[in-house]
Amino acid sequence: MRKSLPAHGSPWSVLEPTMESMTKADIDWRKGRSPMYVFYTTDSVYEVATKAFMKYFTENGLGNAKAFLGVGQMERDILDMGLSLFHAPDTGVGTMTTGGTESLLLAVKTCRDWSRTHRPQARKPNIVAPMSVHPAFDKAAHLMDIEIRRTPLASDCRADPKAMAAAIDENTIMLVGSAPCFPHGVIDPIADLSALAVERHLWLHVDACVGGYLAPFARKLGYPVPEFDFGLPGVWSMSADLHKFGHCPKPASTVFYRTPELHAFQKFDNAEWSGGRMITQTYVGTRPGGAIAAAWAVMNHLGEEGYLAISRRLLEMSKAYVQGVNAIPGLKVVGDPHLSIVSYQSVDADLPIATVAERLREKGWLIGMTRAPSAIVTMLSLLHEPVREEYLRDLRQAVEAVRAAAKPSTATAQPTYN
Ligand SMILES: *Cc1c(COP(=O)(O)O)cnc(C)c1O
Repeated sequence: MRKSLPAHGSPWSVLEPTMESMTKADIDWRKGRSPMYVFYTTDSVYEVATKAFMKYFTENGLGNAKAFLGVGQMERDILDMGLSLFHAPDTGVGTMTTGGTESLLLAVKTCRDWSRTHRPQARKPNIVAPMSVHPAFDKAAHLMDIEIRRTPLASDCRADPKAMAAAIDENTIMLVGSAPCFPHGVIDPIADLSALAVERHLWLHVDACVGGYLAPFARKLGYPVPEFDFGLPGVWSMSADLHKFGHCPKPASTVFYRTPELHAFQKFDNAEWSGGRMITQTYVGTRPGGAIAAAWAVMNHLGEEGYLAISRRLLEMSKAYVQGVNAIPGLKVVGDPHLSIVSYQSVDADLPIATVAERLREKGWLIGMTRAPSAIVTMLSLLHEPVREEYLRDLRQAVEAVRAAAKPSTATAQPTYN
């Protein structure tokens, strides 16, 4: 039956337990059961983020230029910190958004509008991107009537620059690489893509949504993370989510451009409205002041030192997961993950990974899977640090259970996926 608004209101003392009972059966993310959706860093980050978020909960980013100048300054500080991290030239410009999808929609829209002026020969624009880029690009392409050409990956699951070069034609307006891609956790060869973009005079967008605020610190710590940012001349725009490994609360992301001339094509300027002229940089209008304030607070709370310390923990933990998974006979980590996304597949015909996933689900773990290759994907945050042994033990048991069940009871029994 459809609910209607209750006739009488209730106080928090009634609402809170009701909501707690509604969410009781949700995945227990605090115990590291979710390999996606949530990030938890440290108790002090959580505390600072919560306080800042709630303090500026009512402010609206839409009014940053006229009413909430302080929140506007916080936003400029956040963008400056991002531009510095990503080695943008002095001309670099950015915009804060509500998430990776919005950042990517904006980058594509900006590139499309820039191309209308600067590449008029591209009448039916297309974007050339490796198979592994996030579906937000398909969403953008769908919304803007752009074709998206996904090219096959190299054997290490990274973009294949040759395949991308072959897909380019006179209608191509953008090349994309990920740092890293979500399904396999590997950073595309951005230096090669940058060279290709320079050679063809094409716009290269680097989608660093998931890894943008982790990769610079990993590089600084000496982990083998390839160059991926504005230090490469072909990179014209980048997206990086604060609400992932930036350790900031949702919704918060950033999109950056090499020059103001590119960024100029981002804004939406409307003078037709009876309400007057309205200029916005983002897809959304109202934007949460709380998320801006919390991002500012978290970045300044952690500082470079804090990000380095957390990044080291994340990378050491990821290495331990990789070793633990590879130590289980029949399983193999996909590619050579650069940061903290680890995915693994089965290398034995009698060990269907989908059945291993089923057994893990029965043990209370939420499981993410990739299609090609068929693999289990885990995005590791510090929530997964204390449960590593438990996860690997459950995984080993799941593998053993699948093998035991797959033992043919008759000579003709075949392993099946289900
Ligand atoms: C998460 C992610 C996105 C989309 O970000 P949302 O914040 O979920 O909209 C885009 N690209 C990559 C690589 C991602 O991991």
